[in-house]
Amino acid sequence: MSPVRSILLILSFVLCMYGCASAPYTGRSQLILISEDQERSLGFSAYQSLVKKEKVVRGTAASEMLERVGSRIAAAADRPDYDWEFVLIENDQVANAFALPGGKVFVYTGILEYTKNEAGLATVVGHEIAHVLARHGAERMSIGLLSQIGETALVAAVNSQSPTAVRAFQSAYGIAANIGVILPYSRQQEYEADRIGLILMAKAGYDPHAALDFWERMSRSAQGPKPPPFLSTHPTDEARIKKIQGLLPEALSYYSR
Ligand SMILES: [Zn+2]
Repeated sequence: MSPVRSILLILSFVLCMYGCASAPYTGRSQLILISEDQERSLGFSAYQSLVKKEKVVRGTAASEMLERVGSRIAAAADRPDYDWEFVLIENDQVANAFALPGGKVFVYTGILEYTKNEAGLATVVGHEIAHVLARHGAERMSIGLLSQIGETALVAAVNSQSPTAVRAFQSAYGIAANIGVILPYSRQQEYEADRIGLILMAKAGYDPHAALDFWERMSRSAQGPKPPPFLSTHPTDEARIKKIQGLLPEALSYYSR
């Protein structure tokens, strides 16, 4: 075995000691080098600056619907250790939604035109919560770090002891958190979020067929003059809709109402 190969083997062993995780429901193994605690505190800082910057809607029929849908999906997610919160942002020009690690979910009023009803909103919330449960942000960041930094820095980062390594994590996450809205997840992560999201909405008592209606409305708007921003991170075409159809039987096995 070449020295490079043995170093890689040892390295992947060390990384697995610190960084191997597996996604809920799908069991896909993931390389994640950031701890859940670190991820949550970074998510919380991003949350604090967002609620200061944006116009939060409270006490309307729409914000109450979001809270209702959110708490049902959060209950299905079965992570009481997360600090769930569902924030509606007043901006009809922005059809978008995203979630931060730790359980803060943001929905812009502009997307309500596409979600149409409670089950449609459950599709979006379920999908975003799925990204959080599967720690897709931390995974994306870990893969990014792995390709950017050298072996020495990598080991330091894995140990997370030196302030330099911690800062590297934070700045990498900061970038990911700020442009998280426009930086797309990988296709594999999107597919996984669709799969887990459908299961969560079904467990929460929403018919997962409603997801098809939502994605079809999204797909139609892609042909319009002003495609919603949600589409830049969630490209919706025939292939995606077909895949969602293929995921329905599994989701329906969780649907009891
Ligand atoms: Zn997504």
